[in-house]
Amino acid sequence: MDVLTGIGDMQVRAEQDRLAGKNIGVVPTMGALHEGHMNLVRAARSACDVVTVTIFVNPKQFGPGEDFNSYPRVLERDLSACEAEGVDIVFAPEAGEMYPEGFSTKVAVAGLTAVLEGAARPGHFDGVTTVVAKLFAITKPHRAYFGQKDAQQVAVIKRMVRDMNFDLEIVVCPIIREPDGLAMSSRNVYLSSDERREALALFRALKKAEELVASGTRKSADILEGMKQTLTDTEIRKRDYIAIVNPATMEPVETLEPDQPVLVAVAARVGGTRLIDNTIVTLAE
Ligand code: AMP
Repeated sequence: MDVLTGIGDMQVRAEQDRLAGKNIGVVPTMGALHEGHMNLVRAARSACDVVTVTIFVNPKQFGPGEDFNSYPRVLERDLSACEAEGVDIVFAPEAGEMYPEGFSTKVAVAGLTAVLEGAARPGHFDGVTTVVAKLFAITKPHRAYFGQKDAQQVAVIKRMVRDMNFDLEIVVCPIIREPDGLAMSSRNVYLSSDERREALALFRALKKAEELVASGTRKSADILEGMKQTLTDTEIRKRDYIAIVNPATMEPVETLEPDQPVLVAVAARVGGTRLIDNTIVTLAE
């Protein structure tokens, strides 16, 4: 496995692989790798000749007062995990390599970035699209792998790829959960054992939404009400949002229609940690 930190080195390597006719799969991450990440790596490994994992805690996608400084950084452990899964290349640049003096470009998707995570974290998605556009230009993927855990990020990146004609395929992989249902996240290490229990409220609310839709509930207002009833008062107070939206546009859906999947998304602050989770549900005919 090669570990590269220079953009030029990464581009030369990617170009060589392309010229050799190899199919490149890229998994962008911020490191502190867990099973959610490794599932993306395995999906890439099974479909691509060359698998590149990028590890970069991107300062531009953190707002002031967010956890950029405390975000877990465990590069040696991440490299072992990648090696064990047969990753070919890890690209792990320093911030100064990605954003040198005078860096002044921003890639921004309008509209669907204004709501949900975008509303809660101003500037977050501009940071994401800027770094992902750079990572695409540096690692030259045929396929890039993203997790459904960050459902709005998936929608935003798909829109950027479409609008800017990036010549690659976005592959979306399912949410990987702990045995009790908590969605895996690099941020789960921040949780105390009490908070870890409280964090299950997100999953519980999403399960309720799935049950209500499976039993034919069509009105989003009724589903949202049912979800709120699964939450205790403290959990409700700490809630950032619960929303039922179109998975591609993030526009609110008022009434579910058969065969039209909707995204049920939740975000909550548990202790000092902000967690997100979601599920895609479809009303049966
Ligand atoms: P991050 O390192 O948090 O930026 O995540 C890197 C990629 O892994 C993103 O595409 C995430 O959506 C994905 N990811 C993170 N956690 C999970 C999870 N529990 N299940 C599936 N994908 C995940």
